[in-house]
Amino acid sequence: MFVRVAINIPTEKTFVYSVPEELKKQIATGKRVLVPLGHRRRMIGYVLESMNVADRDETRDIIEVLDKEPLFNENDLEFYKWAAGYYIHHLGKLLGNILPGGGGIKTKTEKMITLCPSDVSDVKLTEKQREITDFISQHGETPLSLLRREFKNVSSVIRSLEKKGVVSISEREVYRRPEQGPDIGGDERGLILNKEQEAALKEITIGIASKKFSPYLLHGVTGSGKTEVYLNAMKEALRLNGGIIFLVPEIALTPQLLSRVNKRFRDNEVAVLHSGVSRSARYDQWRRIQRGEARIVVGARSAIFAPVRNLRLIIVDEEHDTSYKQDDRVRYNARDLAVVRAKLNSAVVVLGSATPETQTYYNTKEKQYRYLSLPKRVEDKPLPQVEIIDMKDKRDESGGVPIISRSLRNAIQDALESGKQSLLFLKRRGFNTFLYCLDCGYVFKCLNCSVSMTHHAGAGILRCHYCDFSIKAPPLCPFCQGGRIRSYGVGTERVAEEISILFPRARVERMDSDTTVKKGSHEKLLKALDCGDIDILVGTQMITKGHDFPNVTLVGVISADTSLNIPDFRAAERTFQLITQVSGRSGRGDSAGRVLVQTFNPQHYAVMRAKEHDYTGFYEDEISLRRELAYPPFSRMVNLRISSIKKGRAAEGAGRIGIFARELSGNEVEVIGPAEAPIAKIKGRYRWHILLKGRDIRALHTLAKKILTKTGEDSLDIKVDVDPVNFM
Ligand code: ADP
Ligand code: ZN
Repeated sequence: MFVRVAINIPTEKTFVYSVPEELKKQIATGKRVLVPLGHRRRMIGYVLESMNVADRDETRDIIEVLDKEPLFNENDLEFYKWAAGYYIHHLGKLLGNILPGGGGIKTKTEKMITLCPSDVSDVKLTEKQREITDFISQHGETPLSLLRREFKNVSSVIRSLEKKGVVSISEREVYRRPEQGPDIGGDERGLILNKEQEAALKEITIGIASKKFSPYLLHGVTGSGKTEVYLNAMKEALRLNGGIIFLVPEIALTPQLLSRVNKRFRDNEVAVLHSGVSRSARYDQWRRIQRGEARIVVGARSAIFAPVRNLRLIIVDEEHDTSYKQDDRVRYNARDLAVVRAKLNSAVVVLGSATPETQTYYNTKEKQYRYLSLPKRVEDKPLPQVEIIDMKDKRDESGGVPIISRSLRNAIQDALESGKQSLLFLKRRGFNTFLYCLDCGYVFKCLNCSVSMTHHAGAGILRCHYCDFSIKAPPLCPFCQGGRIRSYGVGTERVAEEISILFPRARVERMDSDTTVKKGSHEKLLKALDCGDIDILVGTQMITKGHDFPNVTLVGVISADTSLNIPDFRAAERTFQLITQVSGRSGRGDSAGRVLVQTFNPQHYAVMRAKEHDYTGFYEDEISLRRELAYPPFSRMVNLRISSIKKGRAAEGAGRIGIFARELSGNEVEVIGPAEAPIAKIKGRYRWHILLKGRDIRALHTLAKKILTKTGEDSLDIKVDVDPVNFM
């Protein structure tokens, strides 16, 4: 017997090993095996198939089988292979990254005590033994750990009971589970769906019953009850014995949603997967899913790879969210993979959003994604009124611009006076964006990255937001020894301070990645907001995600410009999404909501359309620009990111690859660049990129692969980003 395995090393090859007689019984596709490689290396291999004959003369034996049960089956493997091929990763690397590590045959067990079925009425028992036997007869099969909590000296009593033939001891596997988040908001009385929700659900239900690939876009404004539709669709899939994957952008940011799912479905039907789950718990959850015990998987992007049995429904909530894209290790977009996986499984995929990606909306017109719409908020609550504040008019005599305009300040004051809550959003954390020397112009930059360091006043440090390198904020300029250090730009820390000065009696909190480092701190802040312990919450993107707090009536966007100015063809789309999403947090309760957006670009179409809640208007503007410039969806793109720790080598290597790419490109592919990346150095690596653009993804793939093979032996680090492209 032989097995073909994939190994997490940089090669496209798979490897064939022989299986010694004593291990044959344990072999199955989807298990991990320990294999020898080269002279003395031992590696983990993933079994892709087992065979009776090998396609080569000499094979080496596998050393050990590491799993009792497979981590995936043939059907899952087909999907993994597709993903590896599309994103140009080696299968071994993909498997190494997406499958849970750890576990193996070291699974955790516990001792279970049961009463023996035989008649033991004539066995003499001590009082203690009698007590424990009664307890077990009430509880049925009882974990030893439970008995230990109830009685003293349990072990010796149980041992003598076993000797007397009264009880028997067995081992049972215990699953390690992630901790459950707190219960926040959301009342879960059975809701009666409104007409639009019913109509959307009906369509999806037809799709589920059809057992055919059925993609849907559920386009519903914020607070229109999309989640309610998802939960009902899940019920339907479950009723038909189907498995479900429910993807959410960042699970740590959505404790509300998790508690809604947990309340709706039985605990043992649900498995939760995300990066915050410990290794061992992740491994255990994975096997519950693989066995078909957990039918519903809720998770962040990596959950798209979960080995769900009889997959019938995939939901991608907030499908536009950028966190579905993984940028490091293996690169993929879970939203796009969701559609592919649904197709491979003849299943339903529901992409839901208030602000669908231009590409997704386009697909409803071109690619037969069915379009479902929830155009109104539930119970006809009005969408908040959005006001744009032109910050160009707000300069004072010295040319300075206030952080908080008078109108925003008044609006916060009004909210405070009527006992309502406000959210203030800014894309940037920290105090100031950078410090510079007034005398010589020196800017404090990171040693490893070509960006200025952010001033964190509370901690008295300067920190790089790309590599986390930090130094104490120096009192003097290191270049000219001058003492006139000035700051520029604002971050959330600064905004929070300013707010506390303006409103000394208000309870102000800040939520960004600095204040939520500690586990559970994020949930704590949301809980405090839910209980009304916070008047004003200042934060980054974290506060824009799908929370539902009825008492929030005011949302302030401190600056819409930070996202407009990123060097990415999706900048306008991101800005429109951001303003719309953050606005959506306002006025979900009984009082109407208000949104104030401060910007230097009040005439920009993304800002104007967001003000009008006009998604289709925005889409029309955006799609005609994209058509004109031949950006996706009118072309496909592959971005080659080239980096090196040597400045010269990065530039020279990029140049060489550029020439090579042009030689091979033919007329189907356009080669753009090489160009230095907008952030030319990150974590000590100098960065360049080359963009391949064309209509045919296969031509782009072929060219990218040729380039990779050709430059494989180089000491350059080349990463390939396949559509959608990230320019940062
Ligand atoms: P979305 O996901 O579109 O933002 P949700 O599903 O979270 O919207 O719904 C917003 C709020 O409205 C939630 O508090 C939810 O419980 C409530 N809701 C949803 N559907 C209904 C309904 N049919 N009737 C009453 N309330 C509803
Ligand atoms: Zn840095």
